[in-house]
Amino acid sequence: MNLCSSLERPTIIDQLTTQTFDLAIIGGGITGLGIALDAASRGMKVALVEKGDFASGTSSKSTKLIHGGLRYLKQFQIGVVREVGKERAVVHHLAPHLVVSEKMLLPLVKNGTYGEWATSLGLWFYDMVAGVDGPDKRKMLSKEETTKSEPLLRTDIVTGGGIYAEYRTDDARLSIEVLKTALQYGAIALNYAEVIDFEYDKGALTALHCKGLSENKDFEIKAHFIVNATGPWVDKLRKLDNSLKGKHLFLSKGVHIVVPYDRLPLRQSVYFDTPDGRMVFAIPRMRTTYIGTTDTPYQGPLENVPVDKKDVLYLLDAVNFLFPSVQLKLEDVESTWAGLRPLIHEGGKSPSEMSRKDEIFISESGLISIAGGKLTGYRKMAEKVVNLVAKIYERKFEIKFSSCKTADIPLSGGPFGSQKEVDAYTREIEHRLTEQYPGLEEATYLVCNYGKQAEMILEKMKEFNTEPFQALICAEVWFAIFFEMALYPADFFSRRSGRLFFNFPSIGSILEIVLADFAHYLDWDETTLSKERAALERLFLETTHFV
Ligand code: FAD
Repeated sequence: MNLCSSLERPTIIDQLTTQTFDLAIIGGGITGLGIALDAASRGMKVALVEKGDFASGTSSKSTKLIHGGLRYLKQFQIGVVREVGKERAVVHHLAPHLVVSEKMLLPLVKNGTYGEWATSLGLWFYDMVAGVDGPDKRKMLSKEETTKSEPLLRTDIVTGGGIYAEYRTDDARLSIEVLKTALQYGAIALNYAEVIDFEYDKGALTALHCKGLSENKDFEIKAHFIVNATGPWVDKLRKLDNSLKGKHLFLSKGVHIVVPYDRLPLRQSVYFDTPDGRMVFAIPRMRTTYIGTTDTPYQGPLENVPVDKKDVLYLLDAVNFLFPSVQLKLEDVESTWAGLRPLIHEGGKSPSEMSRKDEIFISESGLISIAGGKLTGYRKMAEKVVNLVAKIYERKFEIKFSSCKTADIPLSGGPFGSQKEVDAYTREIEHRLTEQYPGLEEATYLVCNYGKQAEMILEKMKEFNTEPFQALICAEVWFAIFFEMALYPADFFSRRSGRLFFNFPSIGSILEIVLADFAHYLDWDETTLSKERAALERLFLETTHFV
């Protein structure tokens, strides 16, 4: 039985409703999925439901870095930096094809955030906690070395710089691979299934009332323990449980914009000062460079968080300030996204100053809520939550689960022993593509996105008697539906392939093929097809237009 396939939804619902789980998780972002993998790999019976697509919340809207958060050093959040700093290397080791080492340039500017001494010390500490060694260790640069390293930088205010090691990833792909690894360990998960109510017995939480949104069907999941890992929605679920008191969430919006690489052709990623004293990233990624992020208080609806024109202008101004020769304009922006940071509220502090530390709240009914944290720390957050569940479980049922194993479980798409192995595999895929489909330069994309699963996509391509790029898309759509639970074309464009953000111009030529394949595999009638076409058009508009 392939429980990674969207065609198996009825079987998945059947499995969710006909047993009592050790742990039921609400929320299929990186936090919930990390908990599912940790718990399932320790032998717990695990269920997970997600109201949208997996990673459709904050976990596809981040800066896509596996990083320790250098700026938290400035706020003396040493604990956060130490924990996530160490974790960078662990997550890289679990999926080196997907969590890729990246050199980051930090230019020092007159009256900027960091002085030379503080930067040198900060980067040294940053390397030390993460065990960074050898050629990857931080290097301080003179003014000449800095501007040589990045010729687009303005020379009048740059005084020097530092280069240090980080990792870049694709947050949604990371979440999907964590999901698939959890499924390999027996977890059962369903997207487009919303928790609408709780069931109690003598005040203790015993079950989730869910709605399967695509089948419009209500069902119930019974579990001994329930975790609320709903990111920005955590307080909504706490309210539903009548337990929203004491600490609560503070939501901060972060916007990113994507421009063609030719318009901001940086030689490496840059973490730089903005005129208003903040810092933002500019990160080259294949045919694009993306820039972000903003950090502003947010009180609007949690779904479809809007990108405002002023957010876009802020980021364009920041780039044009430090890289004056590029003069980016609104028309250069190909794509955008906006995400919400679920921070724990701290009175009197601005969003940028609030801690990124995670916290666990347990309600009287037994609802375990986890909030805050970072993509980078997902594995440690999961360990904390599952340790807690295992401890109470042992007390209550006298059953002991093993300790956390996830530091040694390679994610689906691997295993790869090292970056060198990834490079060799990419060359192999490149060779095969050149032989079978001359001119199709998608090897790096395929390996970064799918790791060794690129093999299945290449094999499937042979079945499509169309031009190579179309065959690739058809094979990817097949893979997304049958092995990654994609239910709608938006799932494919956004969270399976990333084309919505990083290859928007390619979408026009493949839109009808993708719609036709979804209609074919999922047996859509004409009405459903037109509805889904309209939904996609709305999504494209939201991603590319701002007011
Ligand atoms: P989410 O991903 O939001 O997942 C919660 C899920 O719960 C959602 O998918 C939602 O649909 C679901 N849900 C809600 N209600 C229900 C319900 N009733 N029933 C079922 N499901 C429900 N971290 C880093 O380490 N590196 C970075 O570079 C980085 N950059 C960031 C940049 C920005 C702009 C932002 C906003 C955050 C960034 N972060 C970064 C932080 C990181 O992205 C988040 O900490 C992380 O993604 C949160 O994941 P989550 O699973 O807790 O929440």
